[in-house]
Amino acid sequence: MKWINHQIVTGFIVCTVTDDALFTASSIVGAVVPDRVEGSPPKESSAYWKWRKRHRTWSHYPPIYLALIAAAQFAKNFYADPTVDFALNLLTYALVGALLHIAEDALCGKVPVFTPHGKHGLKLFKVGTWREYFFAALIIAICLFVRFGNIDSLIKLISEVVP
Ligand SMILES: [Zn+2]
Repeated sequence: MKWINHQIVTGFIVCTVTDDALFTASSIVGAVVPDRVEGSPPKESSAYWKWRKRHRTWSHYPPIYLALIAAAQFAKNFYADPTVDFALNLLTYALVGALLHIAEDALCGKVPVFTPHGKHGLKLFKVGTWREYFFAALIIAICLFVRFGNIDSLIKLISEVVP
């Protein structure tokens, strides 16, 4: 998935769940972290294949991000300060953004799940294709419906369209 779609899909999901602008912004920053920590692919061939071998291994390994979230939440026990508490929550949502990135990657390729090198995933679409944009639009539509829609208005809409 392209970075912009990672950011849009992640932002919509976190905004829908938290209804908080700063947590949403934080998750959008985190949404590109798993790719950012890998650095950009080198141009030179042998360096490229070395990079490629490491691609989507440790950087996309969910237990690391889960452990960091647990550590951030655990650290809150030692600070009564609301500013520190808030900062740790921002960090947590950045890490949630990284986890959503990995989940989104799993829909268009393979990511590690149980071990850093054992990759699993569905291949619902190729990166950059219309299917990717359709998928992103679908997630946005679902989020908007969850946020603003209700069953009565959906039934009314369907009854207007279907005679
Ligand atoms: Zn990725």
